[in-house]
Amino acid sequence: MDENVRFIYDQVDRHHAWFAKSLPMIASENVISPLARELLLSDFGDRYAEGLPGERYYQGNAYTDEVEIRVTELAKALFRCRHADPRLISGTTANMAVYFALMEPGDIMTSVALSHGAHISSAKFGAAGMRGVNTVNYPFDVDRMNIDVDGTAKLITLVKPKVAAFGQSVFLFPTPLTELRDAFQEAGCHVWYDAAHVIGLIAGGKFQDPLREGADVMTGSTHKTLPGPQHGIMLSDSADEKFIKRLLRAVFPGVLSNHHLHAMAALGVTLAEHIEFGRAYADQIVRNAKALAQALHEHGIKVLAERHGFTASHAIALDVTAQGGGAKVSADLEKANIVTNKNLLPWDTSPVKPNGVRVGTQELTRLGMREAQMREVATLVARVAVKGEDPGKVAAEVASLRKEFNTVHFCFTPDAEAHKRWRMA
Ligand SMILES: *Cc1c(COP(=O)(O)O)cnc(C)c1O
Repeated sequence: MDENVRFIYDQVDRHHAWFAKSLPMIASENVISPLARELLLSDFGDRYAEGLPGERYYQGNAYTDEVEIRVTELAKALFRCRHADPRLISGTTANMAVYFALMEPGDIMTSVALSHGAHISSAKFGAAGMRGVNTVNYPFDVDRMNIDVDGTAKLITLVKPKVAAFGQSVFLFPTPLTELRDAFQEAGCHVWYDAAHVIGLIAGGKFQDPLREGADVMTGSTHKTLPGPQHGIMLSDSADEKFIKRLLRAVFPGVLSNHHLHAMAALGVTLAEHIEFGRAYADQIVRNAKALAQALHEHGIKVLAERHGFTASHAIALDVTAQGGGAKVSADLEKANIVTNKNLLPWDTSPVKPNGVRVGTQELTRLGMREAQMREVATLVARVAVKGEDPGKVAAEVASLRKEFNTVHFCFTPDAEAHKRWRMA
C-alpha cells in the first residue's frame, strides 16, 4: 500500500480504537446509525444535484430527486411545519442562508453574546459580521443561564432589529420566545431560532417548540442531538410564499451549489428513526444530563444553574476554576479517555484560559447509558478532576464501563441484505 494511504488508514484505525474505549461527551457530537452510515458510502456522494427536485441543472437525478422529496416530507412531518429544506450542508451554512435571505449589510440583528454561549456564526467576527450584519447582544441572567426576558424585550423594542436571533452552543434552558411576542410585533422583526444543539430534543418533544412559539425560521445542525450525518437543515412554518422563496433562493444559489446527496439521504434515515425513537431518546438524554449534573455536584464540582435544576437540555456547564481551569481539566480528562471541551463561562475574561468545561449526554445516551451509568461517569470524572488520580489508571475503568455500551440505540436494525450493499468487494 502507498505509504501515505497506509498512514492515513492507520490514523483512522487508531482513532476508532481510541473512541471505542472512550466516553465521548462533546455536546455537539453524536454517532450516526448503521443504516444511515451505510448511505454515506453510496454513489449519491459522487453526484451533483443543483436546485430543487424536478428543476435540476444536471441530468441523472431521477432517484436523488425521489429521495430529496421524501426527506423533505419526513422533515416536515417530524417538525410539523410547511417548509423544510434538507439541502444545507452544515448548521453554519444554514445560518449564512438566513443572513442572505433576511438581511443586508448594515442591518441590525439582536443575538446572544458569545460569552453567554452563542456560536461564532452569529458573532461579529464570524459569518454575521462578514455579511456586514451589526449585532447587538441581549442582557443575560447568569444565574438562570438564559437571556434576561425584560431586558431583551426592551432591547428589541428599542433597536428594532431586522432579525431577532436566538439559540446557543451552551444551551441549557429554553429561550423565552412566547414572552417576547409583543416585542417582536412592536419591532416588526423576523425571528430566527438557531436550534443546532437542541433540534433533536425539539423533535423529540422536549425542550421547546420554536415554530409554535414565534420563530419564523429555524436552522440546525443534524449531528448534535439529532443523531444524523454532519449536515444542516432549515425549517419554517410560514404561510408567506414570498418569505419561503427568499429562504429557498438564499440556500441555492446563495450558499450552495451541490448539496451532498449522500448526507441528505442519510439524514432521511435519521429523520425516519427519530420519528420512531426520538421521543424516548430525547427524554433519556435530558434525564441523563440532570443525573450527571446532580452527581458531579455531589462530587464537589460546581455545575452552573444549580438553583434552576442545572439543565433542561443535553448539556451542562461546569465551572472548574477550583480544579485548575477548563484547559487543564479537559486535557486531564482526555488522558483518561473522557472527551469534553473547555468552554468560556459568562464571567470569563480570557477566551484562551476559560474556566468552564461543557459536557453533553446525547452520545452516551445513544450508546444505551442511563442514570445509573451517569453516576459512574461522574465518579470517573471526579477521580481525575477533583481527586487528581492518575488519568491512565482511570482510563482502564473508563474502558471497562464503555465495553458494555458499544452499540447504537434508538435506531432501526439493519437487515443483512440492506447493510453493506454498496461496499466494494
Ligand atoms: C454547532 C452550531 C452551529 C454550526 O453548526 P455546524 O453544523 O458545525 O456548522 C451553529 N449554531 C450553533 C448555535 C451551534 O452550536
